[in-house]
Amino acid sequence: MLSSPARALHAINADLHCHSTVSDGWLEPEAVVLRALANGVELLALTDHDEVGGIDAAARVAAVHGLHFVAGVEVSVSFAGETIHIVGLGIDHRDPTLVAGLEQLRAGRDARARRIAEALERIGIADALAGAHRFARNPALVSRAHFARHLVASGVMPDVRTVFDHYLVRGKPGYVEHAWAALEDAVAWIRAAGGIAVVAHPARYRLSAADLGRLFDRFIAAGGEAVEVVSGAHTEDEMRRFASLARQRGLLASRASDFHGEKESPVDLGRCNPLPADLEPVWSRLM
Ligand code: AMP
Ligand code: MN
Ligand code: MN
Ligand code: MN
Repeated sequence: MLSSPARALHAINADLHCHSTVSDGWLEPEAVVLRALANGVELLALTDHDEVGGIDAAARVAAVHGLHFVAGVEVSVSFAGETIHIVGLGIDHRDPTLVAGLEQLRAGRDARARRIAEALERIGIADALAGAHRFARNPALVSRAHFARHLVASGVMPDVRTVFDHYLVRGKPGYVEHAWAALEDAVAWIRAAGGIAVVAHPARYRLSAADLGRLFDRFIAAGGEAVEVVSGAHTEDEMRRFASLARQRGLLASRASDFHGEKESPVDLGRCNPLPADLEPVWSRLM
């Protein structure tokens, strides 16, 4: 039986992973905060991909409204041939080590966007780079999501999900291989910035059981401390599977919508399931 302070901690509506127009979300950082407030969120982290440019604006609005806000980021990592996302929570977003690491990642992202456009050009889709840039409010942060939105807008495919399935995932014509950060580097940058490293949406990776085990071995050895058990990208079965993993590995548990926008996200800000009661919420370390 949990003591009542622990129960109170569990009951907090925490949403520790979402996106703004600084990466591939649809809402400005300020609007993300206002939507979170309207949805009853009590503790929010903005975690744009490879970029912390929205943190100050989000923190300002959160402070005005008395919402508990922590700075975050979602770092792209290459591991065993797959792209893995490591969320950093409670970071000092001005830390020079983190800032330099993210800058390097964004430079690679820019070159990759040009290669994606060239790959699409080869199958007869012209001007995709300009098209993706029309959807990317941050020119330094072009994501596959922006290409997908452009292809939907130009009538190539009916929705973003279908574009990914037909064009943008490995084995499809618009997919290009890319080297993101090393796992240990991503965790080190987050820790240098005083943050907690979290494996994002672990059920979404196409890794063998052995590689998934190695991912957590190396993540923990590097100083990683938490895993998203409840995620907008998880089914309830997947949630139970990663709740067990959190117990076995002694990891803190996170709860996260991964909200990008009303039209693209299955779970709205703050509308995730509660964490299983026996897990220690990662926000015990953030409040
Ligand atoms: P990138 O970081 O450029 O590889 O883009 C990855 C982003 O694309 C993710 O953060 C999601 O926002 C989006 N995404 C990835 N896979 C899918 C999918 N199958 N359907 C819809 N969106 C996806
Ligand atoms: Mn995204
Ligand atoms: Mn992700
Ligand atoms: Mn995300």
